[in-house]
Amino acid sequence: MASQLLDQLIEALQCQPGVGPKSAQRIAYQLLQNDRTGGLLLAEVLDAAMQHIGHCQWCRDFTEVPRCRICSSATRDRALLCVVERPSDVQAIESASFYQGLYFVLGGKLSPLDGIGPGELRLSDLDRRLADGEVREVILAVSPTVEGEVTAQYLAERCSRYAVRLTRIAHGIPLGGDLDYVDGGTLSHAFAGRRNY
Ligand SMILES: [Zn+2]
Repeated sequence: MASQLLDQLIEALQCQPGVGPKSAQRIAYQLLQNDRTGGLLLAEVLDAAMQHIGHCQWCRDFTEVPRCRICSSATRDRALLCVVERPSDVQAIESASFYQGLYFVLGGKLSPLDGIGPGELRLSDLDRRLADGEVREVILAVSPTVEGEVTAQYLAERCSRYAVRLTRIAHGIPLGGDLDYVDGGTLSHAFAGRRNY
């Protein structure tokens, strides 16, 4: 290839899962030939996003401000706290727009074999959320995998220190399925059919 930068661009594009050398090459050539404006905008926004997006101090969802939009909203129901595994789960639930409570993002699942315990997930942040007594119900929306079960059981134990009702969303979510692949209707039913845990 005649350009070292082009080599680097093709290499860099492959940091995305599912983007192999062929697709990376196609994207690079497409941007250079047909869409330099789009390419420059992408570079600018990507740079800003990577530098400035961190985690909300309350729910740990992605945000560039200390307290995210959902946590600072005056219209959300502060008595409901939905515990999810990843920021993309918050996005999935928000897109279906039936849930009005708040969130807590675990950032993973407990997996003793991989050395991921309560300390690694910084679950003391969850205690901080529950300690002030504002939350009345904790809704577990962790996936029904082996690690998801371990996590749910541990959280049940941890939440029992507080005066909160603990529920878990109903199944209907495919086994081992990720929340972000489930459609809004199914998700909304799973929430409506949540049971005491
Ligand atoms: Zn937040």
